[in-house]
Amino acid sequence: MKGYAMLKIGESGWIEKDTPTCGPADAIVRPLAVAICTSDVHTLWEGAIGERHNMILGHEGCGVVVEVGELVRDFKPGDRVLVPAITPDWNSLEAQAGYSMHSGGMLAGWKFSNFKDGVFSEFFHVNDADGNLAHMPDSINPVDACMLSDMVPTGFHGVELADVQFGDTVLVIGIGPVGLMSVAGASLRGASRIIAVGTRPKCVEAARGYGATEFISYKDGSIAEQVLAMTDGKGVDRVIVAGGGCETFEEAVKALKPGGKIGNVNYLGDGEFITIPRVEWGVGMGHKDIRGGLMPGGRLRMEKLGALVASGRLDVSPLSTHVFHGWEHLEEALFLMRDKPAELIKPVVVIDE
Ligand code: NDP
Ligand code: ZN
Repeated sequence: MKGYAMLKIGESGWIEKDTPTCGPADAIVRPLAVAICTSDVHTLWEGAIGERHNMILGHEGCGVVVEVGELVRDFKPGDRVLVPAITPDWNSLEAQAGYSMHSGGMLAGWKFSNFKDGVFSEFFHVNDADGNLAHMPDSINPVDACMLSDMVPTGFHGVELADVQFGDTVLVIGIGPVGLMSVAGASLRGASRIIAVGTRPKCVEAARGYGATEFISYKDGSIAEQVLAMTDGKGVDRVIVAGGGCETFEEAVKALKPGGKIGNVNYLGDGEFITIPRVEWGVGMGHKDIRGGLMPGGRLRMEKLGALVASGRLDVSPLSTHVFHGWEHLEEALFLMRDKPAELIKPVVVIDE
């Protein structure tokens, strides 16, 4: 089969590989559509997970099951499936402890395009099919289904980490596709004000549609100062970090009320440390929680988030601004994600049957 691979850091291209083999609890899936992620860009061009040779990229997609192992109960060839970016080992101790995304080691539930070949190929392998796949509702098209692999679960996880409550004032730092889903999730959780940080007009427009009530730009100076000016110096109840660099923690802590919570889903790519401002952290006693997490994967979550889209409560269609048809456009889509033109939110490649 052919797959689009990271040849080494900074170099990518099409390669030939053997079709993956199916273990007793596994499935082999043929993609219906795949989406490009900012994480693919970090992996390939920034060496975010270190050197990899000839590893097929991609962790966002949906597909059709072509083969299942003899232990798989609930899926069969021909089934259309949602596929989470994170596919934990559900019998691991970490999963039993409630942190399936770290099954087998920190962040090790992230297998596609990390520890094994990803989804940018004619066929891909899914471990623990009964635990990780979800049936794709008929009303969800393959393009929208791709947003359920990572963007919805990650953006919503920021909301979970920040523990957004009814009536909260929420600051969302970063409104790329991940932050947009944090805005949508905070809205669904009953936030009153949602202050969004980002500048690309397409993203600002989408954020407004998802429920952002106010906007600020990180280019206009300190985020925290702007937030304090907008909240009578009080700050916000919750902060979700979905963009920017390590410096966002300083801003987040400064913009937060005592007793507030920060949920980070952003990838921190530079430097040795993040800094926490001492005084604004209540000289160690401010009850300002800082949490960060990889999205949870697995079937139950996919089914629930899929139901949210299928019911019409969450419209993910504004995210897919660039939809291509055919593998021959995959590279173009990947390069678009690297270059992030102003009108881009998310590129998707549909593999027509
Ligand atoms: P994008 O690059 O599309 O969006 C980033 C956002 O951050 C944009 O709104 C951008 O604004 C804003 N931004 C840029 N610089 C700053 C700054 N200095 N201060 C504040 N905001 C800033 O990213 P994605 O939405 O695709 O992904 C967001 C992050 O989530 C990435 O780091 C990605 O790796 C990570 N991620 C994490 C996952 C997890 O499981 N935890 C899974 C998937 C992704 P502008 O409008 O100006 O561009
Ligand atoms: Zn992703």
